Amino acid sequence: MVTSGMMEAWDGDHQVMEETKVDVRQTRRDQSANNNTSNWSNGQCVVAMPSSSILNPRFDLSQCRGKLQQDGFEIPVTDMEEPLKTALDVSSIRRYMVFNSGFFHFLLAPVMYVVVWCAVFSTLHLYISVSDYWVLCLSVSLVSILLTTAIIYILHQNNKEININIDVRLVQVNERMIKYKLLVGVADWVQNCTGKMQLFFVYWDMSLCLRTLTEALDESCFVALETQNKLESRMSHLVLVAKEPPVDPEVGGSDEEQDSDENRPLLRNGDTRCSASSSPRGGAILPSNFSLVPEASLPAQSKAQQLLVTYSAAYVKLLMSDRLSGPSHHRLRPRRNHCTTAPLCLCQFIMNKIIR
Ligand SMILES: [Zn+2]
Repeated sequence: MVTSGMMEAWDGDHQVMEETKVDVRQTRRDQSANNNTSNWSNGQCVVAMPSSSILNPRFDLSQCRGKLQQDGFEIPVTDMEEPLKTALDVSSIRRYMVFNSGFFHFLLAPVMYVVVWCAVFSTLHLYISVSDYWVLCLSVSLVSILLTTAIIYILHQNNKEININIDVRLVQVNERMIKYKLLVGVADWVQNCTGKMQLFFVYWDMSLCLRTLTEALDESCFVALETQNKLESRMSHLVLVAKEPPVDPEVGGSDEEQDSDENRPLLRNGDTRCSASSSPRGGAILPSNFSLVPEASLPAQSKAQQLLVTYSAAYVKLLMSDRLSGPSHHRLRPRRNHCTTAPLCLCQFIMNKIIR
């Protein structure tokens, strides 16, 4: 699921955290290697690709690649198109995106109002005999408005949370994109009575967020059990479904022994708890479920990595649709916010959501 290149990128971040001198050298090396991408700052949108249609959302990935190349981001097909197609180009997911979109909720509101109005009116009419019909109509209208508003509000609030069918499916994409300093997310909203669904590629250098989140997890080590309980209760529903070829016990076994923790794919850390389907002998690929809750035995940095990858697509969605609520600018400590375009950084978002 995770390429070794990604771990190299994280390893680069290791060095950044350890020594300032190394930090400077590493930064210079990165700058010379990615001269074209050094002008970007965290949170800036590099590419926004609108969906082809509202009823059948698809994104032109070859056009995305062209635009990214123009901006100096060279990403191989195996790290971008293939995982994105696996995550989003599935008919059931496209249907889900339509029914979960802001535009669908926008159309749903008047329909729901009429249905609720008729239901309440017919119910009250049976039990209450009112001489003035306009009094009954007025009260039924008020009740219907309140009920419809409450339902739409709940749907709107749900859209602010991490979405298991879109954001969690993009976890594997973002695992690969992090080494190119990009994050991917799908955001949608209603503007001028039309739905806007877009696939966003946002510039994000993860090293500072990783450092802050690792420090926060380290600081809370004396309440480690409490923090772990919070993670488990708030992330227990987050399960990643991945298709993996069965591991050949002869080849896979020896590799497993040689692999250190550093070289293991990030999300395979939860292997012990994954309800993997039994490996068939015929070489068929069956889906396996991976829990996204970081294991208690992991070091703070690995937990931070896993949390950052897990919540990256949800963060991009909220960032691009202006739904990130954070402290106002004057109250915010600037050194803690690594995002130049929003009041809340990815690491702060994770801390607010699941650690505090
Ligand atoms: Zn941050």
